[in-house]
Amino acid sequence: MSLRNFYLSILTVLVSIAALSLAWEFWLEDIVLPVVGVGDEPEDDAERWEYVMTTVAFSALALIGPLVVGTRIIRRDQALQEVVTRLSQEDYLTGLANRRRITQLLEHEVRRARRYHTSFTVILMDVDHFKEINDRFGHQAGDTALRKIAGVIKTALRAPDSVGRWGGEEFLIISTETDIDGGLSLAEKLRSRIESADLGETGHRTASFGVTAFGEGDDIGTIIGRADAGLYAAKHGGRNRVEKVVAGAKAAGDPSRRDQATTVSQRRP
Ligand code: GH3
Ligand code: MG
Ligand code: MG
Repeated sequence: MSLRNFYLSILTVLVSIAALSLAWEFWLEDIVLPVVGVGDEPEDDAERWEYVMTTVAFSALALIGPLVVGTRIIRRDQALQEVVTRLSQEDYLTGLANRRRITQLLEHEVRRARRYHTSFTVILMDVDHFKEINDRFGHQAGDTALRKIAGVIKTALRAPDSVGRWGGEEFLIISTETDIDGGLSLAEKLRSRIESADLGETGHRTASFGVTAFGEGDDIGTIIGRADAGLYAAKHGGRNRVEKVVAGAKAAGDPSRRDQATTVSQRRP
């Protein structure tokens, strides 16, 4: 709660207490007691009516104040909560899920795949020679290119799929209910769309992809490890290509597993 809202609440409580006390005083002294023969009877119906109206007015004031201020405070807190949630989950440059969010989504997919014995695919994508964009056109142009690339990825995905900015010029895509072949098709679609996208002053750019599918016994570390191995192979195989690493390959982090990547898309001339 902000300091302003805090003072507003205190003020409202004080006003409500004052209004309630007055309402009670009018109610007791001018309406109830005269009926049982104690205190001054109202002189006429007009005066009695005036007492009743005054009591109702003070009661309403005592109720409406906290209601309005309380609702305002709750609404503001909700809006603030939404902003905080968005900021903690969104990448500020591209508007995509940030690394924390996409990791949460990946954890969720792993739990789902284990429970329902389904599969999903993870694609790790890295823009080729991105440093050169910054060097040649400046950091601002690099930022614009990243935003455009993020847009290209987003429009290529199905609604249930997710994409997040994994780091600098790296993106992680989760394709739900998809086996390795579906993942490869998606990665190839992304590769081709990025290659042909006009990024403005930075021209046309390419990206490399590592693809893997969930396998029994997988956790986040093993899945990312395989996707990374595929990406590594794609870079070393000449970039602008898609490589897959299937589950059951050697342990994540072992550089030799990178040899197991299977090329599925060759660099275009
Ligand atoms: P490779 O094909 O091997 O991936 O080459 P690369 O140049 O893309 O890779 P490298 O890791 O050498 O450089 C990545 C560059 O991405 C360097 C860094 O300045 C740039 N970068 C990372 N994040 C941002 C960003 O938010 N905005 C801009 N403009 N550049 C970024
Ligand atoms: Mg790169
Ligand atoms: Mg990189």
